[in-house]
Amino acid sequence: MGLGRIVCIANQKGGVGKTTTAVNLAACLAQRGYDTLIVDLDPQGSASSALGVVTSTGTTSTYEVIVQEAALASALVRMAPNDHLWLLPASRDLVGAEIELVPLVAREHRLSEALREVRERFAYILIDCPPSLGLLTLNGLTAADSVLIPVQCEYFALEGLSSLQRTIDLVRRRLNPALEVEGLLLTMFDTRNTLSHQVAQEVRRHFPGLVYATVIPRNVRLSEAPSHGQPIIAYDPASKGALAYQQFCDEFLAPKPTPAKSLAAQVERRE
Ligand code: ADP
Ligand code: MG
Repeated sequence: MGLGRIVCIANQKGGVGKTTTAVNLAACLAQRGYDTLIVDLDPQGSASSALGVVTSTGTTSTYEVIVQEAALASALVRMAPNDHLWLLPASRDLVGAEIELVPLVAREHRLSEALREVRERFAYILIDCPPSLGLLTLNGLTAADSVLIPVQCEYFALEGLSSLQRTIDLVRRRLNPALEVEGLLLTMFDTRNTLSHQVAQEVRRHFPGLVYATVIPRNVRLSEAPSHGQPIIAYDPASKGALAYQQFCDEFLAPKPTPAKSLAAQVERRE
């Protein structure tokens, strides 16, 4: 099953649900039998710890792979009991990568090149980006077939999406012309909050055709699961959060009518 679609989960805002989406979408895909790899590209290592993987300095991790060219295959961790879920963990060493990458040859292509050797082994590779538009995120976008953008349903949700859009357009011009926008996922939606409804409406108006119908609700079980080192479908499979990520997985897997190429193109069409 070597489709090897690489999806970069990015938004330079912190706390919008990137890691939660990476871990839980990956777990849903793996549960359905798709060999799935999560690449933890955040020095905070939240995706790794959400899966119960503790790294220390010296563990072969994303840092060794992209900075020191360690073999990626040797760094992969299998997430028992699910045979189909794998992780490339991050350690604190990755903090230095933003600076250490600067003088290196093909500095934006390091992850892309490293993934080449394992791509065929996986159906999906999900990259969990840090909350910045620095070299790590550029590596994620350069390696990816598409970018998935979680958007938190709160005030200022749209703020920052224009600089993300500029970065995506820059990557398409200079580094990865084939990069598509996978879609925007509304997260932490609060049904009882008028603001949540307004924000969701506004995001859909700005990005017609790019926002998933599935909305991830604010759900306390989703925020508890990482401290148990489990994805939500293992921690509480009947919770609203688990059902929402399963539904999102259905939508993610459904064939798309027209591949969305660029946020800008969509916006221009509307104007
Ligand atoms: P990011 O990776 O974008 O920084 P996270 O996925 O880590 O964001 O989410 C930020 C915080 O919000 C985490 O503590 C996470 O557990 C919590 N969280 C994420 N999604 C939800 C949700 N739908 N409902 C409740 N809490 C959530
Ligand atoms: Mg994160």
